Amino acid sequence: TRELVGAVDRILTHADDVRRLHVHANADTADDAAHARRLGAQGVGLCRTEHMFLGDRRVLVERVVLAEDEEDLRAALDALLPLQREDLTALLAATDGQPTTIRLIDPPLHEFLPDLTTLAVKVAVARERGEVDEHDVRLLAAVQRMHEANPMLGLRGVRLGLVVPGLFDLQVRAICEAVAARRSAGGDPHAEVMVPLVGSVQELHLVRERARTVMAEVGAAHGMSIDLPVGCMIELPRAALTADRIAEEAQFFSFGTNDLTQTTWGFSRDDVEAAFFPQYAANGVLGVSPFETIDERGVGRLVRIAVAEGRAARPDLVLGVCGEHGGDPESIGFFHEVGLDYVSCSPFRVPVARLEAGRAAVAHGGADTR
Ligand code: PEP
Ligand code: MG
Repeated sequence: TRELVGAVDRILTHADDVRRLHVHANADTADDAAHARRLGAQGVGLCRTEHMFLGDRRVLVERVVLAEDEEDLRAALDALLPLQREDLTALLAATDGQPTTIRLIDPPLHEFLPDLTTLAVKVAVARERGEVDEHDVRLLAAVQRMHEANPMLGLRGVRLGLVVPGLFDLQVRAICEAVAARRSAGGDPHAEVMVPLVGSVQELHLVRERARTVMAEVGAAHGMSIDLPVGCMIELPRAALTADRIAEEAQFFSFGTNDLTQTTWGFSRDDVEAAFFPQYAANGVLGVSPFETIDERGVGRLVRIAVAEGRAARPDLVLGVCGEHGGDPESIGFFHEVGLDYVSCSPFRVPVARLEAGRAAVAHGGADTR
């Protein structure tokens, strides 16, 4: 076994020597990031901060949703700040010296709340018994108010950040305070702020203005300059098609090929596998699932457009992919060839991504393909 491990290590080291693509990992916790780093990850390409709102912290999200006025809302958000700051400080310790892309909250808030039907039944039963719980009644009203027919196309990502005042500010503040804490401890944090589901440059402009204000405030409070890169996901066809405009406000793009596949094909990523993919595959309509391997003619074409237009508008734009395709061996050659700087994937896929990136460099030439 030791010989085999040695041989694999030598192959990976050789791949590292020739590859041009960097390999980052999608990691939401310090443990995941440390694990990915041991497997050779050169940074974190996607930290989904929403995972920091799960478990016991759901009650804090309930407070945000139930806030009755601005003051209530601010207090609810303030309660989340220390938790988010501590999680991120730990993450940045694990990725010390490496780029760490922290994405602002993406899913709709009602994902953190109890299920509508379950809650409605609970309230109805309590009413029958004359034991009405006011908190549940208010929560039910909120869940009903927030109900959407197509939540994946609804109030999520940047839209949420623009509609719920203070939500993104809280997160940017937590990121900046984590950076300040790490620097004060002698660390070398490289946090970046990523905005999800951007469809227009105006959305990113508004978020970036606020983010800059928060960075300046936290920097001043700690007597240091905090100027973190701000960029966005490219995961809607409109974002890809207006990449030249969006690049004016973005220091980096990260392709969210999960959502980009969903929105380009019009296939719901949550339903499609069970519903008709097996039949489509059996009938030969689709070879492989476009959620598994990049669909070069459709989704890939949008990636190409966004790379070309983004770089034309901003030559130093950093480009990566953090959708599942970033760790798919069949897709990595495409990302090399199209000229991305890095792929980001689940920690366990990092070694394979290193290998494939090396193979792509040998096959297509390691020279910069920009
Ligand atoms: C994506 O859409 O490809 C992505 C990485 O974001 P998420 O899967 O969290 O929607
Ligand atoms: Mg997405």
